[in-house]
Amino acid sequence: MTTLMINEIYHSIQGESSFVGLPCVFIRTMGCSLRCSYCDTEYAFYDGQEKEINWILKEVQKFKTKLFLLTGGEPLDQSNSLILLTLLCDQGYTACIETGGHLDISSIDERVHIILDVKTPSSKMDKKNHYKNLDIITKKDEVKFVVGNEDDLNWSLNIIEQYKLENKTNILISPVFGEVDYQWLAQRIIESNKKIRLQIQQHKIIWGPKKKSV
Ligand code: SF4
Repeated sequence: MTTLMINEIYHSIQGESSFVGLPCVFIRTMGCSLRCSYCDTEYAFYDGQEKEINWILKEVQKFKTKLFLLTGGEPLDQSNSLILLTLLCDQGYTACIETGGHLDISSIDERVHIILDVKTPSSKMDKKNHYKNLDIITKKDEVKFVVGNEDDLNWSLNIIEQYKLENKTNILISPVFGEVDYQWLAQRIIESNKKIRLQIQQHKIIWGPKKKSV
């Protein structure tokens, strides 16, 4: 039996990434091997049920949207996430995965859009970054830096430079909700002269920071 521990499956608006604003099906796996200081999905650490992949496919098909995001928790903590991604790609879905950046992404189906976190110092998880991922990330993917303060931003700009990420992939800078002044961050991005997308968590602006689904 091929199963995954699932926290929730729901239909909403994609609040992040270059798919922002589009209707999207969210598949949230249970559990995460990191503990970021700013985590907003702690409810997914321990709350979930084991579900067969065929059951998950049927749940996703109930919605008419052909875009989905596999998120968590940390989806790559469960190897069967790779099987689910491939099956949904085979069914014609536009597939995205959001991953914490501490696990190897090389086995993910090449049709999947990878949204890869690089953990900044204020997350307290930056020592866990698997930097080899930055050598294999591609132009269809996105690298996300969650910024909680000025040190995080300066650190992120250094990593972007060091790994020449502007040439390789799409770059997102996402402020920790409620912690960073948007105008200050926008100005710093303008001044950086780098091809960086300022990403504000749109779902939190629409529904507030606590509500995750419609
Ligand atoms: S990787 Fe994501 S789910 Fe895991 S602790 Fe960090 S923010 Fe939370």
